[in-house]
Amino acid sequence: MPESLIINGDRVQASDKGTFEVFDPSTGEHLAEVAKATKADIDRAVESAHAAVEGKSWGLGAPPAERGRVMQRIAQALREQAEELATLESRDNGKPLRQARTDVQVAARYFEFFAGIADKIMGNTIPLGPGFLDFTIREPIGVSAQIVPWNYLIQIGARGVAPALAAGCTVVLKPSSEAPMTALRLGEIALACGLPPGVLNVVPGTGSEAGVALASHPRINQLTFTGSVSVGVDVARMAAANVVPVVLELGGKSPNIVFADADLDLATQGVATAIFQNAGQTCSAGSRLLVERKAHGALVDRLAAKAKSMRVGPGVSDPDMGPIISRRQLETIEQYVQVGTAEGAKVVAGGARPNDPSLGRGYFYQPTLLESVSPDMRVAQEEIFGPVLAIIDFDDIEEAAALANRSDYGLVAGIWTRDINKAMSLATRIKSGQVYINTYGAGGGVELPFGGYKKSGYGREKGLESLFSYTQVKNVCIKY
Ligand code: NAD
Repeated sequence: MPESLIINGDRVQASDKGTFEVFDPSTGEHLAEVAKATKADIDRAVESAHAAVEGKSWGLGAPPAERGRVMQRIAQALREQAEELATLESRDNGKPLRQARTDVQVAARYFEFFAGIADKIMGNTIPLGPGFLDFTIREPIGVSAQIVPWNYLIQIGARGVAPALAAGCTVVLKPSSEAPMTALRLGEIALACGLPPGVLNVVPGTGSEAGVALASHPRINQLTFTGSVSVGVDVARMAAANVVPVVLELGGKSPNIVFADADLDLATQGVATAIFQNAGQTCSAGSRLLVERKAHGALVDRLAAKAKSMRVGPGVSDPDMGPIISRRQLETIEQYVQVGTAEGAKVVAGGARPNDPSLGRGYFYQPTLLESVSPDMRVAQEEIFGPVLAIIDFDDIEEAAALANRSDYGLVAGIWTRDINKAMSLATRIKSGQVYINTYGAGGGVELPFGGYKKSGYGREKGLESLFSYTQVKNVCIKY
């Protein structure tokens, strides 16, 4: 039997019995057959989410503390089933097992973190003077449609679902057809933990059918989209037609900026992890290295040694780096490296598929460093979504700031220096949603608001900030 959709608490096949196949990118082999949600399935999922948010078991009809309790149980269950979930994520997505384990722990943290706030979402009293009492209530916004990509499925799924549930919303979650498996498991776990039917519906399918049907659905009340800029623009248009607010978490071309006074060993580790984690298929990947010219040799030598020593292999063998998600994406990466070298970039490490014949059936690419990159080359401007680092030199802080901001994107930036004045001066000038100093990322960063400037999107996920997307304010004014 194909993997089922989860609609209104039931495991169901697609209305037309359609399915799609999921492949293991480490081997190219069949992993699973999954029910492919149709427009009719999306309609049913949205209707069940509506009924649930208007009913007595969730939303305004249920005690907020009860929401928190269910969510705590989900966090606990994710931890108990961590090994099984991580193995599934690793096979579905290709990522090394230890990274998949981290993803599951981070997913559990989302439920734990937001469980704690479910009964603390408060309004204000507003002083209007004698004879008035005015106060605000933060109400759940309603049905949240969530369209997510394949690269960190269980993490990104939990990142949107947990705050929405804490706020009292109900959710229709559409994972990518490239790697949908752990979203279905999350839906099953949530039901087993007592989440009422209809509160979380999981409907894998294609973007062109299920995605469009969900984003354009007149009965959704909010849309959280994580994915590429072009699709983000499309879904925002569809939602706008129904006056539905949107959170857009899009791509990036994030800089890691390394000064000569930095701890270069620390910076090497941070820069390498920022680009090679998940084979570079990370929205916040540090895919541009801006290095102070006088430290170029020392840093690039260290990075090249690191890249060349990394073991590339199937995710479940827990290598340093796993495969690319699909053959098509692998070919895109190859083309980018060709374009870069044709424009004058030099390959310092990698630049090809591995020549290990045992990896021949999977979609592998070597950790790759490109130097002699000028800031306007395509490899310096476009999101490659692969393990390819574009290295650009700078001479002073002014040039570093200008280069960092010379991008359509603005998701994350890293600054590496021992001089806090320099770091802070640069941090205030960089146009991106997160800035890290002498680190990059913070163990999932569940507590930290995350989102884009410029074409990296708008709205914020993670942290308490994300609750603003899932609540709406009602003002009540009393004259006495
Ligand atoms: P994508 O835009 O192709 O797909 C994302 C989701 O949208 C999938 O579920 C897909 O099925 C769906 N979709 C596709 N076409 C659609 C349409 N016309 N209408 C509605 N839905 C549609 O992106 P991807 O290849 O899955 O993921 C990679 C991209 O996601 C990269 O650009 C990456 O930077 C970005 N991303 C951003 C974040 C973030 O938090 N900012 C996190 C992860 C990935």
